[in-house]
Amino acid sequence: MTQTITVIRGDGIGPEIMDATLHVLDTMQLGLQYEFADAGLVALEKHGELLPAATMDSIRKTRIALKSPLTTPVGEGFSSINVELRKRFDLYANVRPAKSFPNTKSRFPSGVDLITVRENTEGAYIGEGQSLSEDGETALLQQKVTRRGSERIVRYAFDMARRIGRKKVTVVHKANILKSTSGLFLKTARAVAAEYPDIECNEMIVDNTCMQLVMRPEQFDVIVTTNLFGDIISDLCAGLVGGLGLAPGANIGTDAAIFEAVHGTAPDIAGQGKANPCALLLGAAQMLDHIGQPEKAERLRAAIIATLEAKDSLTPDLGGSGTTMSFAKAIASRV
Ligand code: NAD
Repeated sequence: MTQTITVIRGDGIGPEIMDATLHVLDTMQLGLQYEFADAGLVALEKHGELLPAATMDSIRKTRIALKSPLTTPVGEGFSSINVELRKRFDLYANVRPAKSFPNTKSRFPSGVDLITVRENTEGAYIGEGQSLSEDGETALLQQKVTRRGSERIVRYAFDMARRIGRKKVTVVHKANILKSTSGLFLKTARAVAAEYPDIECNEMIVDNTCMQLVMRPEQFDVIVTTNLFGDIISDLCAGLVGGLGLAPGANIGTDAAIFEAVHGTAPDIAGQGKANPCALLLGAAQMLDHIGQPEKAERLRAAIIATLEAKDSLTPDLGGSGTTMSFAKAIASRV
């Protein structure tokens, strides 16, 4: 069976890591068809728009996009194209795995294998109702958390845990202090958790979570939390396992899902063949899980791990002298 996906090659190192990723996916013969679409600086130059209607139509039609990083030029209408995509497609779940990999410059070369599920549409991070008093002395921000928003993200986390065989979900909150917003999130999470007796659920206050993540990250399996806490925690988790070159992310909604690397366009190394393609490849593995090909996703992850173990053609960020494409070919030879 073939499945069409929208492919956005992006800016900076984007085209290089996308070519490398598609090389590996093609080797796997997954039955994927690619519909190429532009976004970011390259779209602005080609079509006069950062997010052309044709790109939106393609994602609406295929419902699945694999996306390289994009440059949002300052003063071009959006504060971020990525945030705009999340808004337009109501991509409410931000899913970021963090896993220890061999031969990476990491404080935890083993033992970390967790997934942060972050609510993507509500809370303080959205920046609703921001104001500054005339004298510039007082700043205000509104925070909205809804039962619907909380329920759908917690349900997503539990359903995902069940689907991919995870055993425990930790609900991260600050309900002891933020009694209204975080309180509603926690109360809703408890009600949802009761419907999943097969998955262990525990609760943890966000400040303690940060300490626990640094001291004993192996105790976590799936973390579910609100937008701003998830923003901070998922970067902390990427740091635990060696940083940006290995951190993928998915933005998932009811009608569409976009899979990507967490890092940016890396203008300092663009066009030099030095970029590590692993983050986007791991994003592609998340995509395969999502479209119902979990065995293929596991095969892809195993090939990445085997290549890292063999130190075969690693890119300079991992201490090797390989190129983006030679690293991808080394991975492709193991899928
Ligand atoms: P960045 O992630 O692009 O780069 C930070 C550092 O990490 C750089 O030294 C870079 O060389 C390195 N790096 C990043 N990815 C790498 C990879 N795959 N392999 C090896 N090294 C890698 O962050 P930045 O410099 O803050 O941002 C650059 C641009 O990217 C900005 O225009 C920003 O808006 C954009 N950006 C886009 C996204 C996205 O589209 N998802 C996310 C973040 C930043």
